[in-house]
Amino acid sequence: MKFIKHAGKIFFTFLFFIIPFIIQAQHFERSVARYITDSAKIIALVDAKIIDGTGNPSKAHQSIIIINGRIAEVGNATNITLPKDAKVINCSGKTIIPGMVMLHEHLYYTMFMGQYFNLAEMPYSFPRMYLAGGATTIRTAGSIEPQTDLAIKEMISEGKLIGPDIDVTAPYIERKGWDIPSLNLIKDSAEAAATVKFWADKGCTSFKMYVHATREDLIAVVREAHKRKLKVTGHIGTLTYHEAAELGIDDLEHGFFVSSDFDKEKKVNENEFDRATKALLKLPVNSDEMKNLIRYLINKNVAVTSTLAVFAPYTNSEVVPGGGDSALLPEVAKMVTDRWKYYQHKDSDDIALYKKELVWEKQFFDAGGLLVCGTDPTGSGNILAGYGSRKEIELLVEGGFTVVQAIKIATLNGAKYLDRDRMIGSVTAGKNADLVLIDGDLEKDIRDIRKTEIIFKNGTGFNSKKIFDSVKGKVGLN
Ligand SMILES: [Zn+2]
Repeated sequence: MKFIKHAGKIFFTFLFFIIPFIIQAQHFERSVARYITDSAKIIALVDAKIIDGTGNPSKAHQSIIIINGRIAEVGNATNITLPKDAKVINCSGKTIIPGMVMLHEHLYYTMFMGQYFNLAEMPYSFPRMYLAGGATTIRTAGSIEPQTDLAIKEMISEGKLIGPDIDVTAPYIERKGWDIPSLNLIKDSAEAAATVKFWADKGCTSFKMYVHATREDLIAVVREAHKRKLKVTGHIGTLTYHEAAELGIDDLEHGFFVSSDFDKEKKVNENEFDRATKALLKLPVNSDEMKNLIRYLINKNVAVTSTLAVFAPYTNSEVVPGGGDSALLPEVAKMVTDRWKYYQHKDSDDIALYKKELVWEKQFFDAGGLLVCGTDPTGSGNILAGYGSRKEIELLVEGGFTVVQAIKIATLNGAKYLDRDRMIGSVTAGKNADLVLIDGDLEKDIRDIRKTEIIFKNGTGFNSKKIFDSVKGKVGLN
């Protein structure tokens, strides 16, 4: 008994002193460490404006104490006593938001081959750009090299690569339809179920239905994924939003842009994208039909992912929304610029639909729907990790959300969807110190979101500009 009692005491000591040390002492390879600005055990961020991610109004003159990678205290700068060993960072004139939790991300990039659309992995530049842009957690939304995505996730967690925490989505669940060679295709629903089992065992935590997947496929995928407490999202087309919600999907990608619910001629398992788009163009912006659909999605607990950057019209836009032109390999930059020029003033339908989309996303949010957001770095090659992520937030604000709402959509809402809001998604004592320090005031000018200075991930500060600079000219290469 004595021995056991003694052993218990040793174990107790181990728990309180050794384990916290093991959890906090993240090792970083030299190639990562050179981008770290702050790694002190205790950091005090003093006198910032905080937009905390919860949807509550911003507060000026706030301080945050970070201890061992966690937020230990947040409050009025005048009321907080700075620990004497703290590394103090003066944040006056600056804004702090939670690390972004972006949910429609990819570690690949558009790579045309002749007239065909294809995708190629960007395993080096994209994770860096996501973190530098302010995302500390991302969920990929469909993968083309799942084994690479899983390895990247692991290498980031081991301190070998720079990037956010990643929830990896398995290869697309898609049937033959579009000629995109890198997509995973299934022949039947049994294969859809097998895909879920295989990739869940490998560590994928989410699944994505694609445009031509059928009702039966979704039923099979939801059954297998939910059995494992994993989630299913979809950029759907063969299914209506109503159908997918009824069958148990957890999230719908691209706002309401790809809803085929209002195509009155649509038959079950039929895919008529053009007809669906025409129906959306015809649907009045304040229709009861859309309001009913929104109510149904909310009742069914279905989140909607806003991806405005990739749907925003080309006419009069930036060539690379968010200002990432210099990130592109020069040859790729030329191709992207040529495509941008080609589309100028040819997208009047897109402009019309985009305007309605902004209203529908707001209606969904205002009715209590879980609106989350993402970057979707695809399109004509103009949308990039990091740069496009910030653009998404700018577009939410331009579209009528308050800054506080837009930040909530990009932080706490994403964390809630991932069921990780206990630890991430807001500037709250006890949560991980995932924070973005911005040199400016977002409520004066949302474009200040481009002035990210330090990204804290679990309390380690990374130099945003230095990371962006490290991958200039790399997108399209690796
Ligand atoms: Zn996507």
